[in-house]
This record gives sequence, structure tokens and C-alpha cells, in this order.
Amino acid sequence: MHAEDAPLATIAETHGTPCYVYSKKALTETFQRFETGLQNVDHLICFAVKANPNLGVLSVFAKLGAGFDIVSGGELARVIAAGGDPKKVVFSGVGKTAEEMRDALIAGIFCFNVESQSELVRLNQVAGEMGKVAPVSLRVNPNVDAKTHPYISTGLKNNKFGVAFEDAVAVYQQAAAMDNIDIHGVDCHIGSQITEVSPFIDALDRILSLVDQLEAENITVSHIDVGGGIGITYDDETPPAFDAYTQAILEKLNQKKVKLLFEPGRALVGNAGVLLTKVEYLKPTDSKNFAIVDAAMNDLMRPALYDAYHNIVAATPRIGETTNYEIVGPICETGDFLGHDRALNLAEGDLLVIESAGAYAMSMASNYNSRAKAAEIIVDGAQVHVVREREKISDLFTTEKRLP
Ligand SMILES: *Cc1c(COP(=O)(O)O)cnc(C)c1O
Repeated sequence: MHAEDAPLATIAETHGTPCYVYSKKALTETFQRFETGLQNVDHLICFAVKANPNLGVLSVFAKLGAGFDIVSGGELARVIAAGGDPKKVVFSGVGKTAEEMRDALIAGIFCFNVESQSELVRLNQVAGEMGKVAPVSLRVNPNVDAKTHPYISTGLKNNKFGVAFEDAVAVYQQAAAMDNIDIHGVDCHIGSQITEVSPFIDALDRILSLVDQLEAENITVSHIDVGGGIGITYDDETPPAFDAYTQAILEKLNQKKVKLLFEPGRALVGNAGVLLTKVEYLKPTDSKNFAIVDAAMNDLMRPALYDAYHNIVAATPRIGETTNYEIVGPICETGDFLGHDRALNLAEGDLLVIESAGAYAMSMASNYNSRAKAAEIIVDGAQVHVVREREKISDLFTTEKRLP
């Protein structure tokens, strides 16, 4: 198996495992495919940084002219370090601190996606102290069911995100009366790994009715941010194609004169990366056959956290009979699995490729069990760029101290 023109086995030999490998071509083409249906529309695609915040990945999108959706001051710093344009940044998240607000105002971001009335009050105060005016969009909770995993559903009434639809007009009126707040847009984001168009359209329907209500109150918005959330194929899901999704949104918008913002994360990177891991041990037991690999839930948390499925294949498949394996890591948790019941023909030392590992994979990695974080690589043709060195064990506790 190759990433572009680079054999994965060579990458594993040279750089070790576990190791994330992304394709620059896949990142580029996916972004361009998203833009295809939007050529005649005023728009900004803001890559949701939390899906994959590696500077190498961000720099690819920055060069393509992308904007960025951030949820922390740390992500803003990454965008700037990667060469991204702060003027194309939208700042989401329910818990922005005053310090994060200040940093974003200094950087001159495009818009704050404000998620509560209290946040609006604080932002007005922080901007006032700096003699600035904060560009604002309210994240409205349209109360639609994204029909996805409950942990990644964000647009329902009982979620912590956004301002309740019923309260939105009143909060906009408050915002309009504030000296250091400038209303720019309306925003929503209903969840992640959504595989149908209808929840997006239901949400936009509600947003458009809100825009009408606001216009009746003499409050105009210059952009609508429809959020992210388009799913990808991990197994047998059939998410909408980008052009079908953007087309449905444009139709619903019906030539309304607003700038259109998107915040895709997973859909731009999920299938542009894999995780390479080596089989350390095969362990047959009475009930199950375990393949113990050198990647674990600290490297890829999605199976443990969401019971998520990732396809797993051998880099060099062996011919002959397969056995059903539990693909597990070395961590001391029964939840430390990467795949259940996978029919593979394996020997110790084999290289496995865990697919669809470009999104919410390395970005959720931890040091649990004092495991150093994996290396990350971007392949460009035959060129192999290490965009994150493998962490050293000694890095793990440099900020810690023994008691005297
Ligand atoms: C996580 C997130 C996104 C990206 O979601 P995907 O499902 O990866 O497209 C976009 N906007 C906000 C506010 C988010 O929190």
C-alpha cells in the first residue's frame, strides 16, 4: 500500500510506528471539491481546526485560501503559526475566556460565534476595555436532530451549545444595543458525522426564519454560517456528496444576499489520513484471538469513546486463511481496542493500516499510560515530510517536579 507515491512499509521502517500519514493530494483535492459548487457564491470555508490541528495540515489549507473555525486560543495560535489568515477565522465554543477574547481581538478575527448571553456581555466588556468593536454572530440552537451519535449531536435543545432558538431575537436585540459589539451574522452547528442532507436543511430553514424576524426588528446580518458536520464513509455510510449538500443549501437560500460560511472538519481530512501500527503479539485465547498492536486508545480514541468503526487492513496482505482478531493496544483498559472481530491473516511484526484516521484521531491523542505521542507525516508525491516528530519519553515529564 502507498500514500501517493510513498510505500507505507518504507515510511514505517524509516519513521517507526505508530505513525499518522496524511496525503497532501487528498487534503487539497477534498478542499477543492468542496469549493466546486460555490464558485459563483460569496463564501468562506473555515476548516474546523480541532479535527486535525497539525501545522502541516493547517498550512496546506492556508495556502488554498481556507478560513478556520477555532474553539480555543491555542487553536488561534496554531492557525497563525501555520500561516493562516486571522481575518478568515471564526471563533466558536461555549467557554471563551477573557484572555482568549483579547487575543482574538488583537489578531483581528473575522467573527466571534457567541454561544450565550453571558458570553456576549463579557465580550462587549473586553472589547470596550480595548477600545475595539467585536464582530459577532450568535450561534443559534435550531433544535433539530442530526441523527448521529449522541456525543457528537450538538443542535438539540438539551445540548450545551448555542442560544435557544426562542431566545435568539431577544439576545440579538441586546447585542444591537451594545457599544462594542457589531452584529455580522447568524451561526449554527448541529453535530458531526451527519450522513443526510435533511437535518442541515431543517436547521437552515429555522435560521432563515430567524433572519426574517431580525430584519423585522431592523437587525441585518451579512453572513450565515451553516456550521460543519458532513459525515464521511468509515464503513458503509453514504454521506451526501459535497455538491449535493452545497446545492441543497444554495437552493434553500434562494439567492438571499449574504456571505455563506461553512465549518467542515471531518469531511476535509477524515479520509486523507491513516494510522500505521505494527503487530507486536498474537495472543490466541479460548474465546478470542487478540492481535496486540503498538497503537492504542491514547493514539486513536474514537473506538473507545464512540465505539467508532475504522477499517483495518494489512499493508502487505498475506494470502491464505484469515482469523477473526480483536485488534487491541497495550493500554491497561478493556476499552483499549481499535477494532473488533476483524478477519485478517496476520503474523507478528506485520504492519497494519487503520483507515479514515485523518480527523479526531491524532487531535484527541493523550499520554495515558505515559505513552509518547505518535509521529505525523504528510506525503506529497514521493516526498515524505515529517510534520510532527515522535514525542520523546523525556518530553513527557519535563514540566513535572519531584517533591524536595
Ligand atoms: C467540531 C465543530 C465543527 C466541525 O465539525 P465536523 O463534524 O468535523 O465537520 C464545526 N463547527 C463547530 C462549532 C464545531 O464545534
